Amino acid sequence: MNSKEHILTSVSLGMPPLPPPVLAPRRKTRQIKVGSVGVGSDSPISVQSMTTTPTTDINGTLQQIAELTASGCDIVRVACPSQDDADALPIIAKKSQIPVIADIHFQPKYVFAAIEAGCAAVRVNPGNIRKFDDQVKQIAQAAKDHGTSIRIGVNAGSLEPGIMKKYGKATPEALVESAVWEASLFEEHGFHDFKISVKHNDPVIMVAAYEMLAEQGDWPLHLGVTEAGPAFQGTIKSATAFGALLAKGIGDTIRVSLSAPPVEEIKVGNQILQSLNLRPRKLEIVSCPSCGRAQVDVYKLAEEVTAGLEGMEVPLRVAVMGCVVNGPGEAREADLGVASGNGKGQIFVKGEVIKTVPEDQIVETLIEEAMKIAEQMESDADDTTVQGGPVVTVS
Ligand code: SF4
Repeated sequence: MNSKEHILTSVSLGMPPLPPPVLAPRRKTRQIKVGSVGVGSDSPISVQSMTTTPTTDINGTLQQIAELTASGCDIVRVACPSQDDADALPIIAKKSQIPVIADIHFQPKYVFAAIEAGCAAVRVNPGNIRKFDDQVKQIAQAAKDHGTSIRIGVNAGSLEPGIMKKYGKATPEALVESAVWEASLFEEHGFHDFKISVKHNDPVIMVAAYEMLAEQGDWPLHLGVTEAGPAFQGTIKSATAFGALLAKGIGDTIRVSLSAPPVEEIKVGNQILQSLNLRPRKLEIVSCPSCGRAQVDVYKLAEEVTAGLEGMEVPLRVAVMGCVVNGPGEAREADLGVASGNGKGQIFVKGEVIKTVPEDQIVETLIEEAMKIAEQMESDADDTTVQGGPVVTVS
């Protein structure tokens, strides 16, 4: 798009802006509620994480939930391995600003304790809760009485012995058979407010399992690559697996599992959804990888601009380019950009060069201009008479 065309698309023609394109429509599912958050194809895809504090440490857990909430977490899960943890749930569920899911393994009595504690939902792992199938009727009744939803959380590391005997290992078929069986038990007892996960640490098996499961019912699906690893590996595994599924419209809520602080999981989860236009984009830095033609230190420039604009809530696209080969083109496509060369930076705003500054003033100029655009975007958003909106360019 040349600058004239770009300006044309930016001008309001009295029409509301088109929603940004997505790769596929959402798979149609039944709708459930996790507290105040809807999960299913009628709701935006939500992002979850799990606290790492002992649940008995009520203040520490609530503090971590507050940090997660501030970073864009929609739903939080807490572990409940003991009676002391169960005893902490009523206060945590009451004081948390986002819905709390209790994560239950081994002991069925904590399923009931979590429901009575007012948790928004309970995650049950049918593979390792003792005599789980015998108790589905009572669990379904208690959940129904309290308006609690359930996640049937099948996990490759803890499949029921019968399924393991049949399949030998956690194949996609094994994960799906376990999930569908448990779903049928809940449905037999007239309980439908549940979502399902079939997690595996191998993205290929995980994707195959979710695709198979998506064919067999209209259950909302919670996506996760379990034990995905440290931040770098876990991010790649989750992004590739979630991307493959979300690109087909599969997935209603996601949890990125990283061996890293939970806030990092939320950042990655939000970024995955934003990248696929499944959540409104916020700050986006388009920076070149640099090469032998670069006339500035692109890495440093991109890092300094990113740090200077951290926390920006408006959908601002900023291009940081190292030379004049692709620089002006990308800088024009963005809301704001710089094309560097000869110790100077050409600053672009909405496709037009507004000034040229010496290299040592590039960062401060970009931040200053970004703040002006952000202010304008915010006041436009407040002013209902203003039509149109920021241009989202898809390259
Ligand atoms: S914009 Fe210039 S410096 Fe950056 S990668 Fe492209 S050619 Fe290299």
